[in-house]
Amino acid sequence: MRHAGDRYAGCTLSHVTVLTESYEMFARAERVIPGGIFGTRSPRFSSFGDFPAFIRSARGSRITDVDGNEYIDFMCGFGPIVLGYNHLAVQEAVRGQEERGGSFTFPGDVTLELAETLVARWDWGDWVMFGKNGSDVTTLSTRIARAHTGRMKLLVAAGAYHGFDPWSVPGGQGVPPAHRSERDEFTWNDAGSVHACFDRNEGDVAAVMLCPIRHDAMHDIELPAAEFLAAVQQRAEAAGALLIVDDIRCGFRLHPSGASHLRFGLRPDLVCFGKAIGNGQPLSLLVGKEALRATAQSLYYTGTHFFAATPMAAALAVLRAYDGEGAYEAMQSAGAMLRDGILAAARRAGACVRFTGPATMPNLLFDDDPKLKRGRAFAAAAAQRGVIFHPRHNWFLSSAHTPEDIAQAVAVAEECFRLVVAGT
Ligand code: PMP
Repeated sequence: MRHAGDRYAGCTLSHVTVLTESYEMFARAERVIPGGIFGTRSPRFSSFGDFPAFIRSARGSRITDVDGNEYIDFMCGFGPIVLGYNHLAVQEAVRGQEERGGSFTFPGDVTLELAETLVARWDWGDWVMFGKNGSDVTTLSTRIARAHTGRMKLLVAAGAYHGFDPWSVPGGQGVPPAHRSERDEFTWNDAGSVHACFDRNEGDVAAVMLCPIRHDAMHDIELPAAEFLAAVQQRAEAAGALLIVDDIRCGFRLHPSGASHLRFGLRPDLVCFGKAIGNGQPLSLLVGKEALRATAQSLYYTGTHFFAATPMAAALAVLRAYDGEGAYEAMQSAGAMLRDGILAAARRAGACVRFTGPATMPNLLFDDDPKLKRGRAFAAAAAQRGVIFHPRHNWFLSSAHTPEDIAQAVAVAEECFRLVVAGT
């Protein structure tokens, strides 16, 4: 098995992990699953040979791979784990629901309790519909917008990710061009390009969809400029188009209520949530305004598991714990400590990096590293030392990251910065 540390002078291998079982399993998986692991969970997306391929268990801020290596995980399952893995109250709710039955012919009673809880929580939303993945509800929101306005055009920021359905999926292999022709793009934080995009599509715009911050992979995270948001809001309103906020990734990490648009003063018609709402149980939400209720009701929208009761029971427990345990504040302070620590460690090691984004969703990129050579080397060395820092995707904090976790992760980061500096 390759070790990240082998590539760098002065590195001791004493605490470097071994990934034999992970990569034997990966080779087996390649025989039965295209690519072994498809999509962004593959170690090919991060650092092949250095990141674990399969995880056996997790608790709090830590995951344990199939070779028995433990990692402090700053990916939180790519977002859903907002309270930490295997959170006691959430797991109890899951077990309690499973004992009563997790999936029925008709919706579980917990469906109504969750819907009422959500609508009472957010005074900007009047109803909620459920899905499993983020893509279920981003796509549903586009259908509601198109049905409601009778227009087809969707405006999105270039490079933004809104899910894997045909209208949105990057790459577009296997998608008829017609599915993509009814969308147009503007440039993030460029009010002029928003105006130009609306001008070009005058009379045709069904909706503009926006994430609360720019969090494209391999890109510095950018917060929205007030002028940019004002242009989006005003032009959508003036055009009679809907404003859809895609809060799948940011939800519950940028605002204590869970709804990130409140941090930026946006007034959306529809908001999509996923990931964090279930703390790992599969659930997504579309929250909408009264004026869209009839259209939402009129659409054919269904899925075998959309009414599964267990994720809804989990979501109720997530909301209680999120509020009751001060999860938002805990994440903020862990994230601030990580940011200060990482920046100080990089300075001491002489590494030129950019650490951008909100404290709870940071992103680390090395200067002058277009192919992510240094970024991957850093992430590989950190994984080998028991910390998961992703080289190309934003990281996620959870309320289970303790000051001790952060101190340990920063110490590892400093060692890894030094290795990268020595190796370049
Ligand atoms: N929108 C955003 C902003 C996302 O980050 C994601 C998933 N990373 C999605 C939509 C799609 O969610 P899912 O993968 O659960 O379908």
